[in-house]
Amino acid sequence: MEIFGDYHIHTTASDGMASLVDQTKSAISAGLKEIAVTDHSWNTLLSSMSHHKFDRQTEAISMMHYVDDMDIKIYHGIEGNLLNRNGDMDIPDDIMPKLDLLACGFHRFLEATCWDKNMKYLLINGFAGKKAREKMIAINTWAFLSAMERYPIDVLVHLQHRALVDIKAICEKAREKDVYIELNEKHIKQIEPCIGDIIESGVKLIVGSDAHTTGTVGKFINTIALIEKYNIPTDRIAGIGCEPKFKDKSNYKVEK
Ligand SMILES: [Zn+2]
Ligand SMILES: [Zn+2]
Repeated sequence: MEIFGDYHIHTTASDGMASLVDQTKSAISAGLKEIAVTDHSWNTLLSSMSHHKFDRQTEAISMMHYVDDMDIKIYHGIEGNLLNRNGDMDIPDDIMPKLDLLACGFHRFLEATCWDKNMKYLLINGFAGKKAREKMIAINTWAFLSAMERYPIDVLVHLQHRALVDIKAICEKAREKDVYIELNEKHIKQIEPCIGDIIESGVKLIVGSDAHTTGTVGKFINTIALIEKYNIPTDRIAGIGCEPKFKDKSNYKVEK
């Protein structure tokens, strides 16, 4: 199975161990034709994105297209954080129109400024007992559904990692809003139990290595195994059977 794209890659602009240039070189060596750089967003603890870093990354991406051996398409994305049960995300309004790809995911390690109102929500996910589990699923599902309503999200990343959701409800909204569900190489085990519902929903899929090092860019051993095991139609998977199409965010206006 040939994979030509990797739409989830980190660099030293957030918590990646390799520079944008090195990650791109690795992608080329891995035979990829296109990648998305998706560093962590503004409220991430310790390794957050900033306007300065984002602008430098934009410049670096455009510069790379002038360098001969960097013959690869690069989408400039961000892996945004789902901040709370209301589905708020941490993408500055002025950044949104500059994004090729907006990914949305749940992460627990956010900056202290988020803690007051969100601490309970963040900490309980992944550790809730059986009784609280159902309640958390309802809360998480609502948060993702409302984020998809409010933001031009392209990809939901590593679903069912830490924050469990009602996958049928999520897939239904994702289809309606034209959002990809990610097959995340690092967290493929978490999504496997609901892969049947995902396939049945008809939602579109996309591959992402979630690479933080050069050695993991474009490596999809677990993803390929899952696709083969469940016979997932590859014409529905961006990066394998089709090219991705991300939302035009240039006219994005925040609804206050
Ligand atoms: Zn993530
Ligand atoms: Zn990531």
